[in-house]
Amino acid sequence: MRMSRYFLPVLKETPREAQIVSHRLMLQAGLIKQASAGIYSWLPMGYKILKRIEQIVHEEQAKAGHLAMLMPTIQSADLWRESGRYDAYGDEMLRIKDRGGRDMLFTPTAEELVTDIFRSHVSSYKDLPLTLYQIQWKFRDETRPRFGVMRGREFLMKDGYNFDLTKEDALHAYNRHLVSYLRTYERMGLQAIPMRADSGPIGGDDTHEFLVLAETGESEVFYDSEITDLTFGDRQIDFDDKAACAAVLDEFTSRYARTDETHDEALFAQVPEERRRTARGIEVGQIFYFGTKYSDAMGATVQGPDGKPVAVHMGSHGIGVSRLLGAIIEASHDDKGIIWPEGVTPFHAGIVNLRQGDEATDAACEDLYDSLRAAGLDPLYDDRDERAGAKFGTMDLIGLPWRITVGPRGLKSGVVELTSRRTGESEELSPGDAVAKLIAIYANV
Ligand code: ATP
Ligand code: MG
Repeated sequence: MRMSRYFLPVLKETPREAQIVSHRLMLQAGLIKQASAGIYSWLPMGYKILKRIEQIVHEEQAKAGHLAMLMPTIQSADLWRESGRYDAYGDEMLRIKDRGGRDMLFTPTAEELVTDIFRSHVSSYKDLPLTLYQIQWKFRDETRPRFGVMRGREFLMKDGYNFDLTKEDALHAYNRHLVSYLRTYERMGLQAIPMRADSGPIGGDDTHEFLVLAETGESEVFYDSEITDLTFGDRQIDFDDKAACAAVLDEFTSRYARTDETHDEALFAQVPEERRRTARGIEVGQIFYFGTKYSDAMGATVQGPDGKPVAVHMGSHGIGVSRLLGAIIEASHDDKGIIWPEGVTPFHAGIVNLRQGDEATDAACEDLYDSLRAAGLDPLYDDRDERAGAKFGTMDLIGLPWRITVGPRGLKSGVVELTSRRTGESEELSPGDAVAKLIAIYANV
């Protein structure tokens, strides 16, 4: 993409409404624009990042054997009356009437609709296990929408639902989600710690929330510092292997890690004092096992091996896709702007032309731009007729992990400068070597 043809409405002033850094930077970098309280338009670069995050979620869900689908945002109230949640949900649910006076709603989550799909089409235990998921907009009329996309009213969520014959199988589905989520967040450059959570209005037995540590997080968290040494890395897990998935769950959840909702002082006191940590965290996902709560209420049964009907065991598993942009920025920025991890960056590298209009410099930039694209990378070329300082300022603000700076002086000795946004370190390389280095970096992302 050429900056001169892009739509990147960078703000010069600091937006006053932003209370936390991620909200401020998302507005300043032209990623989002508020449409009304807690409701945002996603401008081209913000939308691109959102799509990258979705892509990672889809890839990791596919590895776990979960099936992507899409359910409507507007649903009839009938199913919600069946489960009893139409009244239970309260003011957070946006209720709508259609022209025939029928009660409709904007979906805050989709247990009812997916359970209805299941009961209509699945009748035998032989069709299990089954996990369906979607990435779809949700609406919750939050009392205090704030912090930009972190606590919106309309927000994008990955929500997945497992259907299993037995509790044991459903707990395996739970473990599979935990494993796939660990990898999902790491690919976004995040450490998200599974913490024992409270099941809240959805109700349930087993539940963990994934929290990213950040000063601006809304939850207070308590944990054993050893947990931050754990990484999932690039282990290959066979998602059908129950023992292997259970072992990962044990490894990542055996140490003390809880939010204020489930915190237990007496248990926490058993953690050696030097390892006890209190901090704040951002909830970026949650997994639930809730057994037959919905299948009982809505008659979702299958014929078991002995021919008798069995209510299926279910769970639901969510990732806050749009909230993740805020969480990643909270975890990765400096006083100049955002620092995107390679896994989610909107463009792989920025090209800064220090002397727009100078024939040799323009030609070198065009060459770099073409070679990067030919290698399957997606560069953003700042080809505007602007001062170098302004170009650097924009690049730092939008936070592409790598910048190639091209100027007449370097070109005389055959080099360009490759700079890491994270460390600020620069290296002089031939244009060919700069391209080769970027290819190598992104080959491992
Ligand atoms: P919270 O406790 O933050 O209100 P929740 O526990 O009600 O969230 P879930 O139903 O578990 O949310 O939804 C799954 C994920 O969706 C959450 O882990 C969170 O990342 C995200 N999410 C929930 N509410 C919002 C919101 N208002 N704005 C943006 N993301 C949200
Ligand atoms: Mg939650």
